[in-house]
Amino acid sequence: MMKLDIQMFAVPFRKVSKTRKRMRRSHNAMDVPGMTKCPTCGEVIKPHRVCTKCGSYKGKKVVEIKEAE
Ligand SMILES: [Zn+2]
Repeated sequence: MMKLDIQMFAVPFRKVSKTRKRMRRSHNAMDVPGMTKCPTCGEVIKPHRVCTKCGSYKGKKVVEIKEAE
């Protein structure tokens, strides 16, 4: 008998096979946030943001970075 592939209500966990549970959870992983490399210093940075290491954006220095004391 073919059933619809939807569970509309709570199902006892022993009634859900390991495979079925794992297939469902295959979509649960969190995405890795998009990261790019700074063209100036090569540091891994978030896109569309000033590099936190060298203070440059699109290859130009826009912010002066002070070294940590
Ligand atoms: Zn940089």
